[in-house]
Amino acid sequence: MSKKTVRDIDLKDKKVLVRCDFNVPMDENQNITDNRRIVAALPTIKYLLEQNCKITLCSHLGRPKGEFKKEFSLVPVAKELSKLLNKEIIMAKDVIGEDAVSKANNLKNGEILLLENLRFHREETDNDPEFSKKLSNYGEIFVNDAFGTAHRAHASTEGVTHYLPAVSGFLIEKELKFLDEALQNPERPFMAILGGSKVSDKIGVIESLINKVDAILIGGGMAYTFLKALGYNVGNSLCEDDKINLAMELMEKAKEKGVKFMLPVDNKIAKEFKADAESKIVPSAEIPDGWQGLDIGPETVKLYAEELKNAKTIVWNGPLGVFELEKFAIGTNEIAKVLGDIDAVKIIGGGDSASAVEKAGVAEKMTHISTGGGASLEFLEGKKLPGIEALLDN
Ligand code: AMP
Repeated sequence: MSKKTVRDIDLKDKKVLVRCDFNVPMDENQNITDNRRIVAALPTIKYLLEQNCKITLCSHLGRPKGEFKKEFSLVPVAKELSKLLNKEIIMAKDVIGEDAVSKANNLKNGEILLLENLRFHREETDNDPEFSKKLSNYGEIFVNDAFGTAHRAHASTEGVTHYLPAVSGFLIEKELKFLDEALQNPERPFMAILGGSKVSDKIGVIESLINKVDAILIGGGMAYTFLKALGYNVGNSLCEDDKINLAMELMEKAKEKGVKFMLPVDNKIAKEFKADAESKIVPSAEIPDGWQGLDIGPETVKLYAEELKNAKTIVWNGPLGVFELEKFAIGTNEIAKVLGDIDAVKIIGGGDSASAVEKAGVAEKMTHISTGGGASLEFLEGKKLPGIEALLDN
């Protein structure tokens, strides 16, 4: 790893500020519905406890847009963390206010304080230097373990590193290890499955992966811009007309590089974007006017499954259909199951694809499921992540 981790710095008895990604989903009663991001933070926190540190944790949750809102409080996270660690978590009522500062000043070695939601202050996302400086007062050393926000230059990910020596935690180390190994030294054939709604969001990742993979398998809404570029009628399917030329260029580039570029050969189409919409399966060349493609069809699943069976490394980002609606989740679900049965390095790029493998019951069979959808996508695009760039070099 090119950046220093908690292992590379003396942390014994130190006061440490840790940026975690506790941005967990909750129901309307603030019950955490998926605690994976909290669980993923435990190895670093446990290590800091072993080092007898005074630990101040911070995170954002949702988008409270710069003001206190009870539904975005981190109190439920403190409770969950306390349960998982079997240890008291001291909860601050604010971030840089009197309560947090006084609790931090009274913190003893081996104790854990959790600050309130960083995004109760607009200065967090503005990467405000004054706010960063105040955060830095909570530590002698800064540990970033929030992979999910590493692609954002915010006060708690980048700003604070101007005032404190900064190292990564074990989660960021693990994320980088898997993503980097897949990109730098993949066992071949190396294949990427890319889905999601828009081509425009995935241009960067497609361009970057064309230089690295042996095959790209496309699904989801973005498939229709490519199909239209090839002259197919796509009816009312999601299609970015202003990206058709670009879609063509990407396919030509793939051809030049000898990268197999696969598009759906059939689709589940519907007249409306609705859970109970009338639907049918048609070949890609036969999408009628007035209908829209909402999932890949069974022939496509078969074709993709055959291709994927040969892969030794697979990266998957984005659902292959409107997987939130049961009727159009079949393609995504089937491909998740296919991955479950394949013996290869399988990396899931967070977000929707992570939920899909979870739902399909094959999460355990994946090599790595990233905790950061956006961050992993930017990493795959070959972009530098500001929260990681800012850490001390090894
Ligand atoms: P993204 O955020 O770009 O990864 O896109 C994820 C979203 O794409 C999900 O909410 C899916 O419902 C949506 N999606 C996937 N396939 C389609 C499709 N064929 N038509 C419309 N939306 C889709």
